[in-house]
Order: sequence, then C-alpha cells, then structure tokens
Amino acid sequence: MAAVPDDIAGSPLPYRVDPLTGDVAFIVAKRQGRPNLPSSGCPFCVGGIEAPEPYDVFAFTNRWPSIPDGRCEVVLYTSDHDATFWSLGAAGARKVIDLWADRTAALGARDDVAYVLVFENRGPEVGATIAHPHGQIYAFDAIPPRARDELVDPLPDAAWAAAAGDDSERLVATDPAGRWRAWVPFAAGWPYELLVAPAAPRPDLPSLDDADRDALARLLVDVFARLDQLFDGPMPYMMWWHQRPTDGGPWPEARLHLHVAPIYRSANTPRFMAAGELGSHVFFNPVDPVDAAAQLRALPGLTDEERRDG
Ligand SMILES: [Zn+2]
Ligand SMILES: [Zn+2]
Repeated sequence: MAAVPDDIAGSPLPYRVDPLTGDVAFIVAKRQGRPNLPSSGCPFCVGGIEAPEPYDVFAFTNRWPSIPDGRCEVVLYTSDHDATFWSLGAAGARKVIDLWADRTAALGARDDVAYVLVFENRGPEVGATIAHPHGQIYAFDAIPPRARDELVDPLPDAAWAAAAGDDSERLVATDPAGRWRAWVPFAAGWPYELLVAPAAPRPDLPSLDDADRDALARLLVDVFARLDQLFDGPMPYMMWWHQRPTDGGPWPEARLHLHVAPIYRSANTPRFMAAGELGSHVFFNPVDPVDAAAQLRALPGLTDEERRDG
C-alpha cells in the first residue's frame, strides 16, 4: 500500500493519497459550479469583472480556486485580448517574467507555502476557458510529487550542459546573449516538447537578475513564435516552471527550468494521452526529438528587430 508523504499527511488541505497507486488528488467538487464561459464579455479585459483598472500585467486571486486560502492566482500577461505570448515582444514578456518572479517571492514568503508552481494552459484543447492571454499560479503547502521527484534525484550539472549544448541536435534556440537555451528533451513524451533553462544554474524566478530576465524574455518570444509558426496557427500547449521550494530548505540542487508541452502532433491534430500510456506510465511519442528540433529550428522565429520593437 502506498505511503502518505509526511508533509501531506500533516496538511490541513484536502489531499487524498490513493492507497493503490500513491497518486495524490485534491477533491475540488465546488469547482463544478464555475462557469465554462463568462456570460458577458471578457473578465480579463480592462473594465471586465477581474480587471476594472487599466494594466500592463496583473495578478489576482482566482475566483474559482482549486486550492483554498488564496493559493490560486491568475496572471494576466497583457490587457490586449488578442495578443499571443510572442506578440508581447521582449519588453512585454519581460513584464510577465517580473510578475512571475514577484508572485513567486510573495507567495513563497508565506509560512504555509512550500512550493510555488507557475503555469499556463493555452487553448480550448487543454481546457483554457478564456482566450485572453493568461497563466496561473498554485501555491502548495507541500512540495508536489513531480517537483519532488526531480529534486530527490536531480540531474547533475554536466547532464544539463550536455542536454542543452550548442552542438546538440536537439537544440532549438538560444537568446542572443547565450544565457538561455530551449531544446527538445531526449526522452520527450510530447511531439514538440521543450525544456527552457539558463546555461548557468539559477534556483528560481526571483533570483534572476536583469540580464537573465531580458534574455529569457527574448528567448520565450522566439520559442512561442516558432510554436505558432509550426502548424500555421495557435499551438495549444501546457507549460510550467519548476523552481526551488519555498519551505525554507536550502535545496542547492534546485535548478530553474520551464517545461513546455505543445499538444498538436500535426496541424489541428492533438496527441491524446491514451490508455496504453496512463496504464503503463510510459509515453509513446510519434515524433523523433531530433526531427522535432530540426523543424522548430528551421522556422524563422522572430527577427531581432521584431523582438526589439515588440
Ligand atoms: Zn479579454
Ligand atoms: Zn522539471
């Protein structure tokens, strides 16, 4: 029978651990009451119910939280309803990065927050009910299982360097300053899956300096432009940051990185997570990571001028 991890066993939050599999679930039955689509107008446009005042970027507590106690936030990337991440340009993306870092620091400073998960679901194919560009944040009181797995058995520095090396066939893009790299993982589970990480280790979003943030902004704009160019339309994706826990431990092995899981395997064709995969916990990826990287590399991305002008 699967053991209940100590930090979850002591939590006042409604975790359940499946005794057969060890999988952790939150029962969030109240969320069934949330609207699929707002009845009138976009709640995230200026003047909408969640954003009464003009803004560039903006974070607020989710009205329909998956976890109680102000642990779920919505992060608006721009007041422009029709923008994409790449159309923000480097300057706009930099504001999003600053807000991610600020909210990580603010939530992480709470005594009852051990891990800040910054993430985004983009597109109706992955359940994003509102088209306005936005992401989310979950502030957990315990380190979630997937993040803990990576920390318990961390990849050595040399392995990170090799994975993202300039000579890697799976490298997709770097920023002009060479501070960040985006590559397709060796054992990618999703067809055009990406990892984005700094060349020099950084523990978390708040620890990024000015130059790190500017470089990351440029790379993210480039990478998300490539994903939308791949099949000539908005690529639905899930993305999430892994970073140092905020439980007060030193976590010297924690290394900031972004996972991006685009879900199309060809134009308008989602790659479904199927029974053979859920039943085995083994992924079956129809696109060779080297081919995926070559396809993404060959796309124009954004020119330096486009990135500068935003
Ligand atoms: Zn809107
Ligand atoms: Zn990770």
